[in-house]
Amino acid sequence: MLLASFINAQGQDEKMNKFISDLMSKMTVEEKIGQLNLTTAGGFVTGSAVNEMTHQKLQKGQIGGMLNALSLSSMRAFMDIAVKESPHHIPLLFGMDVIHGYQTVFPIPLAMSCLWDMALVEKSARIAAQEATANGIAWTYSPMVDIARDPRWGRIAEGAGEDPWLGSQVAKALVKGYQGNDLSLDNTMMACVKHFALYGAVEAGRDYNTVDMSKVTMFNDYLPPYKAAVEAGAGSIMTSFNVVDNIPSSGNHWLLTELLRNQWGFKGFVVTDYTAINEMINHGMGDLQTVSALALKAGTDMDMVGEGFLTTLKKSLDEGKITVNDIDLACRRVLEAKYKLGLFADPYRYMNEERAKKDLMTPENLKAAREIATRSMVLLKNDKQILPLKKSGTIAVIGPLGDSKKDMIGTWAIAGNQDKISTIVEGLKNVGGNPVTVLYAKGSELTDNPLLLKSDSPISPDQKNSSETVTSREQLLKEALQTAEKSDVIVAVLGEPSAWSGEASSMSDIGIQKVQQNLLKALLGTGKPVVLVLINGRPMTLPWENANVSAILEAWAGGTEAGNAVANILFGDYNPSGKLTTTFPISVGQIPLYYNHKNTGRPMDSNNKFTSKYLDISNDPLYPFGYGLSYTTFEYGDIKLSKSKLKGDEKLTATVTLTNTGKISGEEVVQLYIQDPAASISRPVKELKNFKKVLLQPGEKKDINIEITTNDLKFYNSDLKYDWEPGDFIIYIGSNSRDVKSAKVTWVK
Ligand code: BGC
Repeated sequence: MLLASFINAQGQDEKMNKFISDLMSKMTVEEKIGQLNLTTAGGFVTGSAVNEMTHQKLQKGQIGGMLNALSLSSMRAFMDIAVKESPHHIPLLFGMDVIHGYQTVFPIPLAMSCLWDMALVEKSARIAAQEATANGIAWTYSPMVDIARDPRWGRIAEGAGEDPWLGSQVAKALVKGYQGNDLSLDNTMMACVKHFALYGAVEAGRDYNTVDMSKVTMFNDYLPPYKAAVEAGAGSIMTSFNVVDNIPSSGNHWLLTELLRNQWGFKGFVVTDYTAINEMINHGMGDLQTVSALALKAGTDMDMVGEGFLTTLKKSLDEGKITVNDIDLACRRVLEAKYKLGLFADPYRYMNEERAKKDLMTPENLKAAREIATRSMVLLKNDKQILPLKKSGTIAVIGPLGDSKKDMIGTWAIAGNQDKISTIVEGLKNVGGNPVTVLYAKGSELTDNPLLLKSDSPISPDQKNSSETVTSREQLLKEALQTAEKSDVIVAVLGEPSAWSGEASSMSDIGIQKVQQNLLKALLGTGKPVVLVLINGRPMTLPWENANVSAILEAWAGGTEAGNAVANILFGDYNPSGKLTTTFPISVGQIPLYYNHKNTGRPMDSNNKFTSKYLDISNDPLYPFGYGLSYTTFEYGDIKLSKSKLKGDEKLTATVTLTNTGKISGEEVVQLYIQDPAASISRPVKELKNFKKVLLQPGEKKDINIEITTNDLKFYNSDLKYDWEPGDFIIYIGSNSRDVKSAKVTWVK
């Protein structure tokens, strides 16, 4: 069976190779270079430049693919020119940033990673692919797998948080969801892993900034999710804007050829990020011709928007700076992608008006969006058991994000259907039904910072609303307090609008903006119970809120069903189970703050001045990685190990007894961490290696068994050799990275 499918796959490859060789033998060098050119269709804008003269270029075969076409009719028109009027009738590859859903919008990726449920993550990508492929899209610029340890960086919203192991699981699940088992089907699309590499480590959390790190840190902490996505079969990979070891990614031969292709065996094609080749001029690598040649030789196959390839490669060829072979290699890889997607068999395969009418925003898709949003939310605090709310009485929803559709869907929701989004006000009405009265007051503006007010983003809904009348601060507050007076409970909906996270949305202050915090203080002053619902795309600093508000729900930007999902949680229809995948610091001054840090030679000791700490603040986060509460409580027993001494490839089972000690059923994410306290390089204080998500009825007790193998002990040493080293290991199991039980094991070779 296996042999048969191997022979079959080989036969397919031979057929493809022959087809492409025949085609390429007829193409001129200029036409081959044309295949390497990816241009914008201008339907919407996701970068700082747009292309022109598209019609003429298509006719001449100077465009291989297009991004940012929004309507199916425009894509059809472009495709018509390519397949009917260009010299070899080569179909176009249409790409788009389908990042967390297409028309049905799921929560932002950072929120989805808080599911700790790979089947649901995969399902979100499957649905996104089904919807997008009916509308012309064959290629998505997702998954974004950049590890981020700095919440000032707005793009932390787009990834799976700070952990390389969890990030790798999410990366694999997304690739599988988009691509399925057969790329040529009309409802699967090609994934594009981005941004290769290390983009999440930009200095000071400032977008597009410099990255600098050791190879050991790269291999152990930042590269694993890209590698996992490649191993899952991702068809393409996108370069990053930053330098890797001082050379911009798009021109980095070590990165794109030695590591990606030679070591990892990547067989797909490499596309640059938006004008990333041109930006190598600013990086200080030479003029456009030089950097374009450098990029091609490094292993870049397709040039996004910048047209450096289109305008200079022929000249470089004539001058002997590149070879025909360099161009052929890149051209072949792009054509292979088109072949695998089935575009040569039918260029219009992904343009299906009939399917588009019936497959988008279906009740099933919305149901999945609601389930995923509900499960992605993280209960940060619930003192005095304010939550869940009763389905009766009057609820005052107060805050600038309480009734805002556009801020529910977050960054990169380009094709998101705006009409069907539920706001928090709508959700509470829908789910609460008749016995509940829901009132709303805006209460304050989002900010009074003039710089922030000016910022908007073409890829996130604009935060300004021109039809809004400007109401004075006092008037807004007065209305809010009057509304609050009439209520039994206040739901304050604060945080950040969609436009404040995502690309080019770095922030130096990641706390609740002063005007919003003043509103919150006034609401607390009424003496009524207050629940804080946070809408945002990044971890925020919330020490004041944590100290003063009894109940806090991190709702993120939850997508189309955000409001209904928040209501499901607030009313207790669903018992929250989301767990943070990124550390919430107390203060910006602690950043970068992440759970899998090194111990240092002088680990923090509050009684010893000469240890690694701050004078004015603890080292601890406000909410650690893996943290999240439930409406019930869980108790962890001590860890039992199947053996305390192991040899070679033996397997270890760690067991804890988990008890639901509360009054309602609930899910818990049981997390397993390992520490290697003595090794040839300094290793993290703990690293996530596995988890189990379990549902327990009230009073129920269950033994949770987690298997550990030597694979879980491996790391890259200073020679970049991947192996485990014998010795003692500490196994930790618990409900987050801070609150754990521990046990020691000795493992020898
Ligand atoms: C972003 C990418 C995105 C591309 C295309 C760039 O500015 O960095 O993440 O895929 O634009 O829209």
